[in-house]
Amino acid sequence: MAVYSGPVCRLCRRDGVKLFLKGERCYTSKCAIERRKGSAPGQHGARPRKLAEYGVQLREKQKLKRIYRVLERPFRNYFKEAVRRKGVTGELLIQQLELRMDNVAYRLGFGLSRRQARQLVNHGHFLVNGRKVNVPSYQMRPGDTVAVLESSRQAGAIVQALQSTGGRRVPEWLTLDLGAMSGRVVSVPTREQVDTQVNEALIVEFYSR
Ligand code: SF4
Repeated sequence: MAVYSGPVCRLCRRDGVKLFLKGERCYTSKCAIERRKGSAPGQHGARPRKLAEYGVQLREKQKLKRIYRVLERPFRNYFKEAVRRKGVTGELLIQQLELRMDNVAYRLGFGLSRRQARQLVNHGHFLVNGRKVNVPSYQMRPGDTVAVLESSRQAGAIVQALQSTGGRRVPEWLTLDLGAMSGRVVSVPTREQVDTQVNEALIVEFYSR
């Protein structure tokens, strides 16, 4: 699978927003967006660039893909599914991304970043409703529980992540039992409950061209 392996802060600087790709550093003043005051990467990064309508829509789509670390084809499938369902397409798109298992693990604080959470899921450190699941794209539903495997409770990455986040970032649509190292999906997140800074209407326009 094609995965971007270059400097991730560059991606944030290109999009001009924090994509939270680097764990706890993203929440500190060391964040490159804060240090470089939002300038784009490269020699002419400080110069403001005027994008055409298409460019603005494309950038917004790329931004959302990068935040959740989803490639074009699965992202397009999420969009198709959002169109198929009844409701606001942009919100339905974000809901599906939020309900991915790797994102739920990240939101609960089991990983410092979505990248780390995905790796932990891939390595089989979690149970969903008591069954081992190692598929990062697994769609969680209200009522589902996710728990760290008994044998993984001492895993350095998970312990460190939980110590660093301490449940601080858990949104209202999830609950965390820190002691039991488990969490539960309470409800499908509403758009207001998702802090992802993206204009999803532009993405809907992009795919509707
Ligand atoms: Fe983006 Fe995090 Fe780097 Fe800041 S520290 S630029 S939010 S990846």
